[in-house]
Amino acid sequence: MGLVEIMTFNKKAVCALCDKPQAKSYKPFCSARCKLIDLGNWMSGDYKLPSEEVPSEAEVLDLSDYLSQKKQQV
Ligand SMILES: [Zn+2]
Repeated sequence: MGLVEIMTFNKKAVCALCDKPQAKSYKPFCSARCKLIDLGNWMSGDYKLPSEEVPSEAEVLDLSDYLSQKKQQV
């Protein structure tokens, strides 16, 4: 594989949130964290474009709590 091919490959498969390489099991994201963040953004109705700010693990855990609480309310 040449350099151009590698670059093209990477371009095709970057995380929709943070531009890291996608993981097969979390497409189109790189990790469960980005997948969860994106899901939370859509569900809370204020989807934003990716910012340079990377949420901490604690924020992701809060989001998990938030989502499970929301599930229980329905
Ligand atoms: Zn990501």
